[in-house]
Amino acid sequence: VIRYIKMGLLLVICLTFLCACVTTPSYQISNPMEVHFIDVGYGDAILVIKGSDTLFIDGGYPPMTNKVLNYFKTIGLKELDALVVTHPHPDHIGVAHGILENNIPVKNLFSSYPLEHSEIPHGFRSLVQEKLKNGVFDYTVLKDGDTISLPEGTHFNVIHPEVLVENLNDSSLVMYVQAFENGVLLAGDVGPEVQKRLLLDHANVFPVTLLKAPHHGGTAIEAFYSEAKPELTVITDGINPYGNPQKETLLFIDRYSGQFIRLSETGNLVVRENPGHELSIFTTRSE
Ligand SMILES: [Zn+2]
Repeated sequence: VIRYIKMGLLLVICLTFLCACVTTPSYQISNPMEVHFIDVGYGDAILVIKGSDTLFIDGGYPPMTNKVLNYFKTIGLKELDALVVTHPHPDHIGVAHGILENNIPVKNLFSSYPLEHSEIPHGFRSLVQEKLKNGVFDYTVLKDGDTISLPEGTHFNVIHPEVLVENLNDSSLVMYVQAFENGVLLAGDVGPEVQKRLLLDHANVFPVTLLKAPHHGGTAIEAFYSEAKPELTVITDGINPYGNPQKETLLFIDRYSGQFIRLSETGNLVVRENPGHELSIFTTRSE
């Protein structure tokens, strides 16, 4: 009798395994993407992880450095394949400077601005020059059409800027990465003029699954959000003197996003890709 029970059990296990194989979608992802939005108040601190590939964007105002470094420690992150400075405003370049100053190993540093550009803060320039002299990493200037390729094969398409303009926000590095169902658009701080250009010159990017709202929900054109039609829009907001996110932009975001999240309301956020490319959203607290 025990033998029959054992055989029955084996049959059940085999059937379960078979069912599992049949129902597993062919497009199952081996390395799901995770996008971490660290709450640094008004500013961007975005970490993209896929397998062993890691890319970090900006980081927020300088005093947020410890918070970001603690976050790295909590999740066991010891080095970065890529550090991206979208533009040299302090709510973006501040922590990027802090990361380098604290000797977190960075393999590649990317920006839309050449190091010699007058908008690059003097302290950042000399710190990077010193590290370049010691061969610590490479500094690469990117523009529309370039790609950041990480060691394990994650590709970030740079879709802005074409050229640097006087307005720093509109010279932000904008990236698109294929993940989830329709991709992730990381839109820096670009304003209405650039949003218009992106719709014209990079129509193939739209719609997207996950959108980092440009300029902390700042002034926008409605078409940008109606074409982006994100499943999730994340607003990296906090106390600021600019009135961001703008009331009208919040209406656009609400109207055209499946859902939207303001980091000022949730704290740290992790968006994870599931088999089938759906989104999972987690919030975490950090000191
Ligand atoms: Zn900003």
